[in-house]
This record gives sequence, C-alpha cells and structure tokens, in this order.
Amino acid sequence: MKVELKNLTKKFPSRNKKERAEVIAVNDFTFEIPDGTLIGLLGPSGCGKSTTLNLISGLLKPTSGKIFFGEDDVTDLPPENRGVGLVFQNYALYPHLTVKQNITFPLENLRGKDKMTKKEMADKALEIAKLVQIDTLMDRKPSELSGGQQQRVAIARALVKMPRVLLLDEPLSNLDARLRLQTREEIKRIQRETKITTVFVTHDQDEAMSISDMIVVMKDGIMQQLGKPQEVYDDPVNLFVAKFLGTPPISVFHGTVKAGQLYIGGTAVLAVPGAPDGEVYAGVRPEGFVLDENGPLSCNLTGVEVMGRDITIVSTHPDCTNTEIRAIISAENKVDTSSSAVRFSLKPFKVHIFDKTTEERIRFAL
Ligand code: ADP
Ligand code: MG
Repeated sequence: MKVELKNLTKKFPSRNKKERAEVIAVNDFTFEIPDGTLIGLLGPSGCGKSTTLNLISGLLKPTSGKIFFGEDDVTDLPPENRGVGLVFQNYALYPHLTVKQNITFPLENLRGKDKMTKKEMADKALEIAKLVQIDTLMDRKPSELSGGQQQRVAIARALVKMPRVLLLDEPLSNLDARLRLQTREEIKRIQRETKITTVFVTHDQDEAMSISDMIVVMKDGIMQQLGKPQEVYDDPVNLFVAKFLGTPPISVFHGTVKAGQLYIGGTAVLAVPGAPDGEVYAGVRPEGFVLDENGPLSCNLTGVEVMGRDITIVSTHPDCTNTEIRAIISAENKVDTSSSAVRFSLKPFKVHIFDKTTEERIRFAL
C-alpha cells in the first residue's frame, strides 16, 4: 500500500500561557512512501516524528493537508478504519493475558463477514507468532518474557490483522544494545517477508540507516532530506543532515574558499572548482582523510586506536568545531605515534562544504 502525505501540517497550541506562539510539530510535509518499502523517520527528540506517525495512524487530526493510502483519502477516517498496525516504545501488552491472548485480542472484535472462529483465531495467532519467532511462548504472561520477546509480541499483535501500513514508534528504545541489534534485524526480515509498507521512527541514525530502504531526516518539524540511506550520507543537503548521519561523526572545520581552493587555517587543503569565494564550514567524513606525510592538513595527534582492519587516528585542530577529529584509515598504514603531528590529504568526494550563514551545501566540481 502506497502512503502519500500532501502538505501535511500539525500545529499545537502553546502550553506556555505567557508565550502564545503555537508549535508547528509537522510543517508542510509532502512525500510518498512507495508500496512495500520501509521508511525511517529520523531526527532529534521533539522534531515531530511521533506527531507524523500519529497523523498517519489517525490518532491525531492534521491542521491542514491530506493523507492517502493508495488512492483512498484517509484524512478523515478514524484509526480503526485505516488498517494500520501500531507498535510503541513501551510494548503496552495486556499483563493479565497470555501471549496468545494478546495476539488474538485485535481479532476478537471483528464483526460481520470478518468475524473469526476460535480455531481460526488460534491458527492465525500461531502463524504470526512463528513469523516473529515466539511460537514456543504462547502460554506465557508478558511478565515472564524478556524485553525483546515482549516487543515481538507487540509486533505480532500489530501484524495479526494484516495491516495495510505498519507504524513503529521507537520500538527498540527499551531494549539493551545487543537485543536492539538483533530485533532490528528481525523487524527488517519480517517487513521483507510480509512486504507491508512500514514507517519506522527513531532518533538513532545508525538504526535508521541500517534498517530503512529510504530515510526522511527531520528537524524542528521540517523535512530536511529524503533518500536512500547511503545517498543521504554521501550527498547531504545541509550541515544539519551531514552532522546527524555517520559514526564517527563528520569533522567540521571553519574554512574559506578563495579562487577555487578550500583553505583551513590559512592552508589550501583541497581544490573546490566552481565554489564561490566566502566563509564556509568544511565537513570531512572519517574515511575522507588520507594519511600523507606531505598532506596539507596538519593536525595534533592525540591517539591511535587499532580495530582489526581499521585504524582510528584521533587528533585535534584549532579550526575544527569537533572536540576531536576521528579519521579512519586502513590498518595497513603505519602511524608514527612518536610524532605530535599527523598530516592528511583529503578525498574530494568525502569533503562537503556549506555556506557559513545558511548552512546549505555548496557544490563543487569533482
Ligand atoms: P518526536 O517524536 O520527534 O520526539 P513529537 O512529534 O512528539 O516529537 O513532538 C514534536 C513537537 O510537538 C514538540 O515540540 C512537542 O513538544 C510538541 N507536541 C507534541 N505533542 C503535543 C501536544 N499534544 N500538545 C502540544 N505540543 C505537542
Ligand atoms: Mg517521539
């Protein structure tokens, strides 16, 4: 099921009586989620992710704009008639019901031609439980399950009516690190198998990048960029997006462009043909640094971390806005740790420059 948002806006009245300004939680969103894809809504806390999800589910009414599922305008449909499955951060299972009863719960209320017999419900519950791999736990109560298992029950409950759209709001946030990794792989697998159009909300860029076919990066209720995770990483539209994606983060330097050259700390570090003269932020991805004893960028070496295939060179630079620069190079390189300086040259396609005032990307010829 294709989902389309058209000029979707949600304003909340101010909670602060003195300050009347309303909050625009979702500001004029227009984008399409193609049928069968998993889209990640990504952004810092308070940027409007849950509001967007709740507009799609119907739990919230938009201030203006429209939502379509396929060709159907669902903007005024109540949540129960939209055919959505919802999963939240806190699993919200019924504590007094067994796993099986929790999963069949949404089926109990079906009426008319959709009404199911006890046997049909049990079969359906087992089928879905197998899909999320909790079929051996059917008679347990939620309190007898681990966090990861509880979240699988919540996912099974959201899937049991075969929703047209699956909506997940930070579903992994309550899990420990190992379970988080495992469960996100599971969600990806379940989504691939069921091909249900899925919206996955998270503030964790690593999670969004690894699980999503497409990501939408948001800030202050405004959509910044939409694209495949790797495309957005490689081709950010502004400084916010560049900084939000990537671990270790992009290193951002104060720089100047003059006559097609990028200067950092008075030294020309890279040719940027076609970029206009002016003050810029220059962002360098960790994999964009090349260890080079004659390289133009000289940094103060503070540490070297060997991680199997890769080495992380940790350094500082007076014109870098990051407290430390983390450069990742192949372990085949030898770093002279006796020296207090380390010199780099830069890979042009791993360097992004941004207007100092607007923070918009400035493109240069590669
Ligand atoms: P996120 O899920 O990205 O953390 P939310 O969608 O929950 O963000 O919130 C977006 C903005 O809208 C925030 O500024 C939040 O305070 C505000 N907001 C959310 N719900 C309400 C509400 N019911 N009333 C007033 N303001 C709200
Ligand atoms: Mg939220």
